[in-house]
Amino acid sequence: MNFEFTEEQIMIQQAARDFAQRDLITDVIERDAKAEFPTEHMKNLIKLGFLGMNVDPKYDGGGMDTVSYVLAMEEISKIDASVSVVMSVHNSLACYAIEKFGTEEQKQKYLIPLASGEIIGAFLLSEPEAGSDASSQRTTAEDMGDYYLVNGTKNFITSAKCGSIYILMAQTHPEKGHKGINAFIVEKDSTGITLGPHEDKMGMRSSDTHSVMFTDVKVPKENRLGEDGFGFKVAMKTLEGGRIGIASQALGIASGALERAIQYSKERKAFGKELYKHQAIAFKLSDMAVKVEAARYFCLKAAWLKDMGQDYGVASAMAKQYAADIAMEVTTEAVQIHGGYGYSKEYHVERLMREAKLTQIYEGTSEVQKIIISRSLLKD
Ligand SMILES: Cc1cc2nc3c(=O)[nH]c(=O)nc-3n(C[C@H](O)[C@H](O)[C@H](O)COP(=O)(O)OP(=O)(O)OC[C@H]3O[C@@H](n4cnc5c(N)ncnc54)[C@H](O)[C@@H]3O)c2cc1C
Repeated sequence: MNFEFTEEQIMIQQAARDFAQRDLITDVIERDAKAEFPTEHMKNLIKLGFLGMNVDPKYDGGGMDTVSYVLAMEEISKIDASVSVVMSVHNSLACYAIEKFGTEEQKQKYLIPLASGEIIGAFLLSEPEAGSDASSQRTTAEDMGDYYLVNGTKNFITSAKCGSIYILMAQTHPEKGHKGINAFIVEKDSTGITLGPHEDKMGMRSSDTHSVMFTDVKVPKENRLGEDGFGFKVAMKTLEGGRIGIASQALGIASGALERAIQYSKERKAFGKELYKHQAIAFKLSDMAVKVEAARYFCLKAAWLKDMGQDYGVASAMAKQYAADIAMEVTTEAVQIHGGYGYSKEYHVERLMREAKLTQIYEGTSEVQKIIISRSLLKD
């Protein structure tokens, strides 16, 4: 067992840290307040090669491993999870689904521009009445011969507006249940697609979230991902890797809050001494650090399994559940350590706490992760 990172992994971590601490920090509070998309920062994210970072270089990707992805996600999420969610959905969901399940033609047409960051990808599974129970898809994709006719509504879609390519799940054979679902690559500009208003969210306010309506949208047959009826498997397998992204995002939010709490406890005095000299505060910091470190190991273990070509489904569920839950705990304690100042926008920790909450909800709630983990324990 080797706990050391390679030189390349350390370089990627440092590049992500520099980008976050130098660029993202400058306007993160303002963008959060205005719910403004980080358009300019996305250009730097592309220059860094972080959009498409795991894709094979033969499709213009960065060819970086999943461990590097975790390191970059943590650093960016310490400062701005609204940016890291775009990065996570793009890499783990959109690029992965096409690279893993796409035909060569689909890769040439869609993966290459996605992997170079020329266009952004989104993942459309959730519906107003199909969230945790994603198998009860109501959006339909009727087989019309050489195309599918799509009708329905997806909601809470990250990068719905900034994205050009959608990975869409829809039901083709309702009588077959989840085995009737198909996955498609859909161009956002297709006739019949309309977006709802930008969601006014609690956290990750500067990421782009909309509902997406499909009215008689024609999707060419060659845009189906995988065999007929394979769409639910595409979605579930893709989300296994997505969880590594969101787990590392939660880790970054927690470690960012811990760093801020440590710093503040050295600056602020109460009862004649710095906060950290009160053992109650020092012990809080210690508890927070243990949780952050454990979450880091979970994330890296899941990433390492993926890089080794081993099964990482349960490991990524454990990473996501644990990292998301401790992100909520650690950010709440960080606000507590900041006292009244923690409740003001200026000190960042209240925003980190709002961001942490979302990691317990999307890409499978914490309860859904427990379903996955417990099923794996109980199967014969
Ligand atoms: C900001 C944001 C961005 C998002 N981005 C995307 C995206 O890009 N693409 C996409 O497809 N989706 C996206 N989502 C949707 C997200 O994945 C869903 O909200 C999530 O899966 C939960 O579904 P739901 O909201 O319908 O809640 P429900 O499924 O209705 O769940 C409500 C509550 O019940 C619990 N629950 C449900 N079933 C069970 C059970 N069997 N046992 C125990 N507890 C249960 C849940 O854990 C939750 O606490 C996003 C959501 C948000 C808020």
